[in-house]
Amino acid sequence: MAEIKQDGSNGPAHGDGFMTSDAGRPVGDNQNSMTVGPRGPIVGDDFLLFEKMAHFNRERIPERVVHAKGSGAFGTFTCTNPAMGKYTTAKLFEAVGKKTPLLIRFSTVGGEKGSADTERDPRGFSIKFYTEEGNWDMVGNNTPVFFVRDPLKFGDFIHTQKRDPQTNLKSPTMMWDFWSLSPESLHQVTILMSDRGTPKGYRFMNGYSSHTFSLINDKNELFYVKWHFKTKQGIKNFMAEEADQMRATDMDYSQRDLFGSIDKGEFPKWSVKVQVMTEAESKTYHINPFDLTKVWPHADYPLIDVGEMELNRNPKNYFAEIEQAAFEPRNVVPGMGFSPDKMLQARLISYPDAHRYRLGGNYQSLPVNAPQCPYATYNRDGTMALGDNGGSSPNYEPNSFGGPKQNPRYTERKVTLDSATVGRWDHREHDGDYYTQAGNLFRMMKPDEQQRLFSNISGSLSQVEKRIQDLQVGHFYKCDPQYGEGVAKAIGRDIKEIVAEKELVPA
Ligand code: NDP
Repeated sequence: MAEIKQDGSNGPAHGDGFMTSDAGRPVGDNQNSMTVGPRGPIVGDDFLLFEKMAHFNRERIPERVVHAKGSGAFGTFTCTNPAMGKYTTAKLFEAVGKKTPLLIRFSTVGGEKGSADTERDPRGFSIKFYTEEGNWDMVGNNTPVFFVRDPLKFGDFIHTQKRDPQTNLKSPTMMWDFWSLSPESLHQVTILMSDRGTPKGYRFMNGYSSHTFSLINDKNELFYVKWHFKTKQGIKNFMAEEADQMRATDMDYSQRDLFGSIDKGEFPKWSVKVQVMTEAESKTYHINPFDLTKVWPHADYPLIDVGEMELNRNPKNYFAEIEQAAFEPRNVVPGMGFSPDKMLQARLISYPDAHRYRLGGNYQSLPVNAPQCPYATYNRDGTMALGDNGGSSPNYEPNSFGGPKQNPRYTERKVTLDSATVGRWDHREHDGDYYTQAGNLFRMMKPDEQQRLFSNISGSLSQVEKRIQDLQVGHFYKCDPQYGEGVAKAIGRDIKEIVAEKELVPA
C-alpha cells in the first residue's frame, strides 16, 4: 500500500495523465451524463455526476469573520543581529545568517472574501515562522495600535465595520457612533483616516505585532517586546480618489501586485526590528506598556535590528496554502512568551476557536499549518484526521512503551503576580488619555497630509447625525485644536458651535 503523503502530492491531478474519480477509479467519459437514451433523464447509476455535484456543493468553507480577503506567499527570515541571545533562546535568532522558512498572509479586515483590496481599512500582517522548535505565529497588523483595548468590545466594534442588520449596507453611522462613544479608538482612527489607511498593495506597508510580547533568555530573564516589520520597498499609499478608482478597475489589486512581483523575481523584503523593555521598567513606565491603543515612543524605546524577511515563493494552490492557513498568537516558541495585554489574552483563546469552527479540529495538521520540525503530540482522532493519526504508537501519557515524554527544560517561566483583586476594572478610571498619542501623530503630519486626513474623515462623518459629529469632533479637538477645527470645516460645521456646546478645553 502506498504511503499516505501529507504534502498533497497524492491529491488531485497527480496521476499518470488520466483522470480518476475521487476513489481512484479511472474515468472513461467526463463529457456526458448517464441518461435513458440520448434525450432521456439521468439515472441514479451516474456516480461520477453525483460525486462532482456533491463536492461542488461543499467547496466553500466559512470565510474568516474578520480578515476574509487575503493574499499570501512563502519566504525566508534571516537573522542579522549577533546579540539577540541577550534577550531570547529562540532558535531562529541564535546565529547571524541563520535562515528560517516562513509563510505570510496579508489581508483587509472588514470586507467579505470578494471585497476590494483597496478599501480604507487596517491590513492584517500575519507570519508563520516554521522554526526547529515549532511554529511561531506573529499575527499582526499594518498599524502599531488598535481601536479598542478590552476584548469585551471587540465583537461590538467589528459589527460596526460590517453591514447594518436591516439595510445590509455599510454604515458610517454605526462606525462613528461607536468611535465617538469609545474615544480610546482615536489613535487608530487617525491612522486609518491618514494616507496609510489605503496602502498601495501589501509590499509597501509596515507590519507591527501591535501587542506586547515577551522574550526570555538563558538566564530566565524576561524582556517585553514590540515587533516592527519595516518595508524595504518604502511606504506607498493610494490617495483616497486613487483607492476608490482602483476599486472599480481592479478589485484584486493587492493580490495581483504581490503574486506578480514574486512571479517576476522581484522579491519584497522587510527589515525586522524590535523594541525592548525590561520587566522592571514595565512596572514604572508612564504609559501602560500593555495598552493596545498606545505605542512605545521611539525616543524611549529605539528600534533594534533583528533580521530581514524576504518573500520569494508564490503558493501553488491558494485554497490549500492560504485559505486554509491558520495563524494564532498562542503559537510562540521556547524563548518567547506573552504579556498581560488583555486583547492578546482573548486572542490566545479566540483564534484557535475560530480555526476549529472554520477548518475543523485537526486544522493544525493541514500541511500548511503543520510544523516543519518533528512533532509528537498525543492528540488523536477527530474529523478528518490526516496522515497515519499516530499509527500504532500509544495515545496516552505517561506510558511504558517508549512514547514521547515531557522535557522539563521547556517548562514555561514562572510568573509572580502581586496580590491583586479580581474584578471588572474600569480602565477608563486609570487612563483616560486617549488624546496625546493621536495628537502626536496629527502634529507629525505635513499640512497636505493633514488636509487629506480631514477630507478622508469628512467623506463618512459628513453623512452622520449632528449629535454624533459633535461628540467626535470634540474628541479630535482634544487631540489638537487644529485637528478638530480642520474636521469641522471639512464637514461644513462651525467648530465654535461644537466646542462651546461641549465646553471643551484643549488637552
Ligand atoms: P517618532 O517621530 O520617533 O516616530 C514616528 C513614527 O510614526 C515614524 O517612525 C513612522 O513609523 C510613523 N508614521 C509616520 N507617518 C505616519 C502616518 N501617517 N501614519 C502612521 N504612522 C506614521 O515618534 P514617536 O515614537 O514618539 O511616535 C509619535 C507618533 O507616531 C505616535 O503617537 C504614533 O501615532 C506614531 N507611530 C509611532 C510608532 C512607534 O512605535 N513609536 C510606530 C508607528 C507610528 P514607521 O517607521 O513605523 O512607519
